Amino acid sequence: MSSSTPETSTQPQPTIDARESIHTIPTHHSAAVFEQHGGPVEIKMVATPTPRGLKPGEALVRLIYTGVCGTDHHVLRGHWPIESKLPLVGGHEGAGVVVALGPGADAFVDIGDRVGIKWLADSCLACDSCRRGLEPNCDKAECSGFSRDGTFQQYAVAAAKHLSPIPAGLSLKDAAPILCADVTVYTALRRADLVPGQFCAILGAGGGLGHLAIQYCVYSGLRVVAVDTGEDKRQLCQSLGAETFIDFRQTKDLVDDVKRATTDGKGPHGALVAASSGAAYEDALKFLRPGGILVAVGLPGGAVIRAGVFDTVLNNLRLAGSYVGTRQEAIEALEIAATAKVRARYRVLGLSDLPAVFEDMEQGRIAGRVVLDLDK
Ligand SMILES: [Zn+2]
Ligand SMILES: [Zn+2]
Repeated sequence: MSSSTPETSTQPQPTIDARESIHTIPTHHSAAVFEQHGGPVEIKMVATPTPRGLKPGEALVRLIYTGVCGTDHHVLRGHWPIESKLPLVGGHEGAGVVVALGPGADAFVDIGDRVGIKWLADSCLACDSCRRGLEPNCDKAECSGFSRDGTFQQYAVAAAKHLSPIPAGLSLKDAAPILCADVTVYTALRRADLVPGQFCAILGAGGGLGHLAIQYCVYSGLRVVAVDTGEDKRQLCQSLGAETFIDFRQTKDLVDDVKRATTDGKGPHGALVAASSGAAYEDALKFLRPGGILVAVGLPGGAVIRAGVFDTVLNNLRLAGSYVGTRQEAIEALEIAATAKVRARYRVLGLSDLPAVFEDMEQGRIAGRVVLDLDK
């Protein structure tokens, strides 16, 4: 695989994929299966669930495209302190069509509906977290491509109440990266509570999450200081409206460069850290201006945010985590994407390319996102 700049998707696209009308459910389908953490990804045929086997509230989705997220790579490699089910079909940015419904699922979706499967696969909607609008923190949360099989396959069973409706005007291909990368940064930037004219630094700005965060910032009137590395990512960030790009491998003093990129040299008002390195978090705490907020969304395994109490107090710094989003935030992000104000930049590859995609991800070579065509 090359590390070329991804194709753009800003041109109007047909919203209906011919495959959206395929409703013959086969006995077997293609899936990418992780047998063990750190092990190879195997592309193989697995049994397709039958409509009769669906439980109450479940839907069977014929997936056509899926995005590939850094989280999938972390899960495969076993980078996190919590372990996924095994064997596992990873993936949590799936876009497709509902082809069968279990009892009661028609309260949420109909057969033929275009839907997305996101990271949060299910939640109870009744616990304290769910009631307070923190569905991802549900006591009974289930996650796609982690605690249940995800979207690196052509058919997936999903809790109908957590499927995201894909608006007309947004192709399934464009919808896929919205379901995790985009929802995550949309929600995180809302939490940052920045206002037009303020500066936001984005660390990991050229990656799957970061390049979408740039677009939300620009859309909201914020001024972007992008931090990442490599020429592909520089070009991508600048083409999306970042005022400054700082290559963290080339700068002699990242903290100073970020501060100087703001008009008065006092540093950005907010920092969204989508980088997969722990060092990015410490840098952000050093360059934020007084009253600034750091919003953490990247999940480097084992990383720790070390914040000096003295500086945190005296500078009125705020430190926030932001973990994906709710059903409502997914709907809002998809609706914004349908207006083309914010669109993922991606390359389309096949399911069989997944091992090579993980390899590129490990090396930090992917600018924007990769979307897999599940029929290739
Ligand atoms: Zn993700
Ligand atoms: Zn709950």
